[in-house]
Amino acid sequence: MSDIIDAKWAESEFCDGSKKHPTAKNPITVDPWIYWYGDSDLTGQELPAKIYYYMGVLIIEPDDVELREMNRIDNNDIYRAIRRVPTILRNCIDAVQINPYAEEDDSARAQADGATIILFGYQSAEEARETTDELPYIFVHEAAHLYDISNGRISRSDAYREAMSLDGNHASSYSQTNMVMDGIGGRNGKAEDFAESVALYVQYRPKFEKRCPHRAKFIRMRVLRRS
Ligand SMILES: [Zn+2]
Repeated sequence: MSDIIDAKWAESEFCDGSKKHPTAKNPITVDPWIYWYGDSDLTGQELPAKIYYYMGVLIIEPDDVELREMNRIDNNDIYRAIRRVPTILRNCIDAVQINPYAEEDDSARAQADGATIILFGYQSAEEARETTDELPYIFVHEAAHLYDISNGRISRSDAYREAMSLDGNHASSYSQTNMVMDGIGGRNGKAEDFAESVALYVQYRPKFEKRCPHRAKFIRMRVLRRS
């Protein structure tokens, strides 16, 4: 495991030439790091960041303690959520960024930017608790999108379409909304159906297997590669 992360580190844009990857006990500082807070590349703040690996996922957080505290989500909860993502999916996540600021228009608490998952700050204690509870679900959902993309968009494959139509329902109300908008304004309903299904499978397997047996079989065989 450690060798694989060292190899990942050697390939990383942040690698300072050191052979061993940085860990929580031995992080490195990147100065400056740009914390984007929204979709626009024009809104960001440059700050020193501390970076290190946790189970192969690069963690990026403000080096300054006060700034770190502007995001109430606890590191241990983030680590626990990372541990709960099945390995094959976890390998798709490059980084988790702990952002001190809120998203620009305040509409998201977490968001994937490429293979980086951004956890926004400025959440009330109540909101941060909710986000913390949802972290494993958020991580698996985003990792499922990354897996989908790196596997030739299997959410568009005939086999997945067939599983959806045999189940004859929607994976979740969120995917239903996206499915209705499928193809409109760049929305990809099938990709959301897939990501929701993978997250539901990992988090609530018995219930999901009962409700969506064909999708469940697809995920078991084609994603998690279990027989
Ligand atoms: Zn999604």
